[in-house]
Amino acid sequence: MKYNQIKLIINLHIRYKSFKVHYNEFCRKGKVTMNNLIINIQKYSIHDGNGIRTTVFFKGCPLECTWCHNPESQSYSAAMMYNSEKCTGCGRCAQVCPQKGIVEKDGLFPVPRDLCDACDTCADFCLNSAREKAGQAYTQEELMKELEKDKMFYEESGGGITLSGGEVMTQDMDYLMGILKTCHKKGYSVNIDTCGHADYSRFERVLPYVDTFLYDIKHMDNDKHKELTGLGNELILSNLKKLNQAGAKIHLRIPLIEGLNTSDEDITDMAEFIKDLKIVKLSLLEYHSIGNSKYDRIDMEYEGKDYKAPTQERLKQIKNIFENYHIDTKIGG
Ligand code: SF4
Ligand code: SF4
Repeated sequence: MKYNQIKLIINLHIRYKSFKVHYNEFCRKGKVTMNNLIINIQKYSIHDGNGIRTTVFFKGCPLECTWCHNPESQSYSAAMMYNSEKCTGCGRCAQVCPQKGIVEKDGLFPVPRDLCDACDTCADFCLNSAREKAGQAYTQEELMKELEKDKMFYEESGGGITLSGGEVMTQDMDYLMGILKTCHKKGYSVNIDTCGHADYSRFERVLPYVDTFLYDIKHMDNDKHKELTGLGNELILSNLKKLNQAGAKIHLRIPLIEGLNTSDEDITDMAEFIKDLKIVKLSLLEYHSIGNSKYDRIDMEYEGKDYKAPTQERLKQIKNIFENYHIDTKIGG
């Protein structure tokens, strides 16, 4: 193939990508809307409820937890991720970027954050998978098609679907209700993994279609909560009480980070609050640093570099404190 022909194909491809971005944007403003972007659909998950489940991670969350394992899920907009360890410095991305914004720096080709509109063109041309788009728009039909591929596993294992994030309860409600109603009609169990920070009217709408809420508590002290997540805990705790009164099945989860929410006082405050709720169980989730490398890929600062999980001995002590309040407690998901 001649050089000019290759150039023509590349140009046509870039024009097609540009058209697709604007078309997708148009669709999102119309029937798909600006949110409900998805960062990952994880198959064969066994930690998000009963049986084998398919977990959908939505993009966008009102909280900014300093230990967040999925920093790419915090913003509601699509974004490019760049893995410098996979980059060979070939420069193809810089040649094809329609914004002409990718500039070589010390042999690397970072994402031009001020210009990038996440058109995904550079990822298409990168032979080393060093670039990846976080946030894909799925219509309801496309998402259901993906979820239905695993229906055999749901049936055989007593599993189902878990909607997670980011924060599910702040996504577009018509979209969410469409998915929930279709799953309900087909007999698929749906769990919602939530930080609890959304208007209660949203919880009321989804309640009849949700099997279990996987609900997080992070800190009982409002100021501390604000410091660690960016927002206070009033709405989260009030929604939890209301959901409990409405008879929702609730599986509580507490991420534990040594020194941040693991003192006797922190745990006793939580136990005092939880003891009056009717919950399925309480899971104690140890801090882990698995998502830390993602911060660099998305050019975000990781505040939790010194965070640690509590020791196994401390975890057992924490479990005992909750059990003294007759709260069914488990270490791990
Ligand atoms: S195309 Fe991929 S490997 Fe080549 S410079 Fe760009 S990111 Fe690096
Ligand atoms: S995703 Fe961003 S960096 Fe990549 S080609 Fe498009 S505008 Fe350029």
